[in-house]
Amino acid sequence: MSYKNALSISHEIVTKYLAEGDFAIDATAGNGNDTLLLAKLVGDKGKVYAFDIQEIAIHNTCKRLKENKLEHRVQLINNGHQFMDKYISDKVKVVMFNLGYLPGGNHLIATKPQNTITAIDTSLKLLKEGGIIMMVIYYGGDSGFAEKNAIMNHIKKLDYKKYSVLVMDYINWINCPPIAVCIEKLK
Ligand code: SAM
Repeated sequence: MSYKNALSISHEIVTKYLAEGDFAIDATAGNGNDTLLLAKLVGDKGKVYAFDIQEIAIHNTCKRLKENKLEHRVQLINNGHQFMDKYISDKVKVVMFNLGYLPGGNHLIATKPQNTITAIDTSLKLLKEGGIIMMVIYYGGDSGFAEKNAIMNHIKKLDYKKYSVLVMDYINWINCPPIAVCIEKLK
């Protein structure tokens, strides 16, 4: 199967949706892997907004972009994604979330259910029709179940006439493999 895990699913889907000139948001910049993908896809006419609450994450993402000479396509914002509408008025095609803690960082500084839900609702307003939120949700282990459960309860109540919510879960794998979720804002 070419879909190796939730992360590769998220990258494949985002690559299909984003085109040159589009605007996108990385709600959890971390070490910059997703921000870099978005920056490559939007081209020089597009723009990426990338949020993280940790300075080290913003630093790592900035370094990653500079190594690829793509820093001019990205606005890095050292603040929580729950405040994204204070920084963005453009309509965007894709919003990515890669939840949990910074790999290689402090496991206690992780995404929180209420902030994530606020950011999902704000993202839905900022999305263009036909645009998507692409999320990778980690749970079990250090991440626990609270965030995953809160998000699932929230997104399954979204109006099906306005949004399609697709959940991709490797249901026969062990040890709580991450889940990929794609929410499309319908035209
Ligand atoms: N997308 C990243 C990458 O490609 O390397 C990985 C992201 S990591 C799993 C999750 C990140 O979310 C951490 O860097 C953490 O600091 C950040 N985070 C936690 N709460 C946040 C919030 N309210 N707003 C923005 N970022 C947050």
